[in-house]
Amino acid sequence: MSRAVLSVGSNIGDRMGHLQGALDALAERVDVIAISGIFETSPVGGPEQDDFLNAVIIVETTLAPHELLELCQQVEADRDRVREVRWGPRTLDVDIIAMDGTVLDDSALTLPHPRAHERAFVCVPWLDVDADAALPQGRIADLGLDPRGVNARPDLSWAQPGG
Ligand code: AMP
Repeated sequence: MSRAVLSVGSNIGDRMGHLQGALDALAERVDVIAISGIFETSPVGGPEQDDFLNAVIIVETTLAPHELLELCQQVEADRDRVREVRWGPRTLDVDIIAMDGTVLDDSALTLPHPRAHERAFVCVPWLDVDADAALPQGRIADLGLDPRGVNARPDLSWAQPGG
């Protein structure tokens, strides 16, 4: 079994519904170990667009890294993600941030995710679920990321997957 850290985000339509849909779909194929709280985050880069909801989901799976990527992309496609603008708005984005100590860099998949360490919208939710979270760049808690623009939404909560 491998343990993988997944980042999920949405900034179109029923954002919480899309995140919940991602959790439900993932839970059908992998073991969900832990889920962060929900965070509202300002968009980073790209065109003018609405704020995101972001969260981190920790899973355990026997899937190989590229199989997990395929699952993540299937889950995205099932939520009608439209890939029109790079860095632009999306119904649902599911990224693999890390998968145990796997280091990989090919045309389809880079692990650990090459930009995760500079993205507060990934790291703040990750810390929420794992205070010891670390990447090759160091412990996430020690990276000195600017948490401005990443705000907890304790008023939003997950439903039990599949419930
Ligand atoms: P994006 O549109 O930002 O979600 O990027 C998706 C593209 O990034 C896909 O073509 C993936 O093959 C590629 N990719 C590379 N590494 C990763 C990763 N760690 N997690 C998710 N997608 C990845």
